Amino acid sequence: MNTKVIRIEERQGAEAAIREAGEIIRAGGLVAFPTETVYGLGGDALNPASSRKIYEAKGRPSDNPLIVHIADMEALAAIVKGVPETAKKLAEAFWPGPLTMILEKSELVPRETTGGLDTVAVRMPSDKVALAFIRAAGGYVAAPSANRSGRPSPTCASYVAQDLDGRADMILDGGDATLGLESTIVDLTVKPPAILRPGFITGEMLRQTLGRVEEDVTLFSADSGQAPKAPGMKYRHYAPEGELVIVRGPAEAVTAYIRGELAGGRESGKKTGVIATDETVAMYEADVLRSVGKRTDAAAAARGLYRILREFDDEGVELIYSESFDGEGVSQAVMNRLLKAAGHRVINV
Ligand code: AMP
Ligand code: MG
Repeated sequence: MNTKVIRIEERQGAEAAIREAGEIIRAGGLVAFPTETVYGLGGDALNPASSRKIYEAKGRPSDNPLIVHIADMEALAAIVKGVPETAKKLAEAFWPGPLTMILEKSELVPRETTGGLDTVAVRMPSDKVALAFIRAAGGYVAAPSANRSGRPSPTCASYVAQDLDGRADMILDGGDATLGLESTIVDLTVKPPAILRPGFITGEMLRQTLGRVEEDVTLFSADSGQAPKAPGMKYRHYAPEGELVIVRGPAEAVTAYIRGELAGGRESGKKTGVIATDETVAMYEADVLRSVGKRTDAAAAARGLYRILREFDDEGVELIYSESFDGEGVSQAVMNRLLKAAGHRVINV
């Protein structure tokens, strides 16, 4: 398969490209497209064959359900068994935007799309290209992140091409994703609602709208003994090829520990990397040094994290140390992805 890459800009031609992308989806093909979170690999959510193609293209286990992307509230009513008050309130507050809701699915949605589940994950993204594309595609686009399974999610079209060239019919290039981390997932089929994946819409924000909201115990620990409720969260994810270790503790102890480990890594001839912050980056000596931005700027860390992880792969880094990002709100989303990328290897100093 030849993957066509089309750059979408605010000019003539964008409409025609989006129309063509929509036709590909209607004909059962796959199109990678930009959203404000990360790039998605889209297929017709109501066509079982399209969903099977998505799993195959990504190399994704078929018990890991896809998120259905919609462009208006009428579409929501068609694919769920009834829209609960909680969903209406959240849609009012956060859609279009980086929030995915889990609801009981209607007959319209094939089990191939939901990984065999009776529930469906639904999101209305805010990215303008995404919304126009979903409409052109018929209103229901199933899309996981547009990476090969296990790799960091792509935040720009060239990373999509790196993973999926020859595996999708088209890539719509809309530039860099503005947020850079996947959507928050909240399960509305349980009482109280539960956060299955943290993101930009934080627990605090959800509580302001819904009252009580719980967090899945598996979000930040590897040893809860429970399987995550979002099936996808049980897989090693977002992982660079090198070994990634998170170092946690008081700032000075963290930098001292990492400096020591880097010296050891160099002696053993390993290519080393560090994920640091603007405040600390000058303190390290490594083959590949990256800062995620100011320590207080969790949004910047979210935006840059996956690009940094991919850059370590591009440079062939074998041993990576990361400072930890403990805090409330978006920091939690960053830390959740970092823990998964590290396979929960954390050293407390
Ligand atoms: P991705 O598209 O790569 O962001 O992955 C979608 C995420 O949504 C995965 O972690 C899935 O396990 C999760 N998900 C999708 N549908 C459901 C569902 N019906 N119930 C629980 N989690 C879901
Ligand atoms: Mg993914």
